[in-house]
Amino acid sequence: MLIGVSACLLGQKVRYDGGHKKNRFCTNILDDYVQWLPVCPEVEIGLGTPRNTIRLENDLNQIPRLVMPKTGEDLTEKMTNFSLQKTRMLQRAGICGYILKKDSPSCGMARVKLHHGPNNLASNRDGVGAFAKILLREMPHLPVEEEGRLNDARLRENFITRIHAYDRWLGLMKSNWKRKELIRFHEEYKYVLMAHNQAGAKRLGKIIAKPDDYSSKQAWAEAYMDEFALVMKKPASKKSHTNALLHLMGYLRKYADSQDRELIQNEILKYNKGYVPLIVPITLLKHFVEKFEIPYLLNQVYLKPHPSELMLLNQL
Ligand code: SF4
Repeated sequence: MLIGVSACLLGQKVRYDGGHKKNRFCTNILDDYVQWLPVCPEVEIGLGTPRNTIRLENDLNQIPRLVMPKTGEDLTEKMTNFSLQKTRMLQRAGICGYILKKDSPSCGMARVKLHHGPNNLASNRDGVGAFAKILLREMPHLPVEEEGRLNDARLRENFITRIHAYDRWLGLMKSNWKRKELIRFHEEYKYVLMAHNQAGAKRLGKIIAKPDDYSSKQAWAEAYMDEFALVMKKPASKKSHTNALLHLMGYLRKYADSQDRELIQNEILKYNKGYVPLIVPITLLKHFVEKFEIPYLLNQVYLKPHPSELMLLNQL
């Protein structure tokens, strides 16, 4: 999987002070599973390293500008042109996720310091980095996270699940895909979607069921991905995971005896109460699905959303 990343997070010395912000999750853990496409927008627009600091300032019309206070230079247009070009290149390269550096006036995804008022002396946290803003606008389905948020186990697991899904989606869209393949994609993500948002999963089911409501196969797929990306953005809660696990267990009714079902149910309830991590009921369910070779469940992404070596389900 090809992932875009703020170059300083990989340890590249591209920051204004000549330093870096190496992120251990990126360099020590994800490094074995992804191929990076590092970008430093400030260096790439020619600011060099080290350089004067830059910041976001509202202009008289309350439109954020990217400015170098020491010289007064307004870099907004330069950064906008670069960002448009770069996002097109990233799109062509087929990135399936992006990790941004938080708080940066160029890379920050949200809550970036925005100066305003007389002489820009006041500030709030309403800004979005000038490069990040264009990336988010031009690639609305792309899973994007900030490195700071990836310290949260739930957000981290969700991001990794989303990049796997988007990678698979891009692969499907690149092929000469048939209707049945999009239907299969939806079916295999059924329990992942249910764990995220049951109402959203139902909306997606309706889109999938009515391809003829759309002007073309492409329009159908676009409508599906619009909703899919939205549903997947919000991480699943313990309550919604419990709901998905119980539904999966219900499917086993025909196969497992009452003793086995009781065992599974106990582990689901223990997970719900916080006594065991999510990996416990999932491993148990997976064991029975494989033992009874239940075709519909064998391909459920929910039972193996990402490489087990990442141990992401052990932390939920
Ligand atoms: S935050 Fe972005 S612009 Fe700043 S050094 Fe890192 S990659 Fe470059």
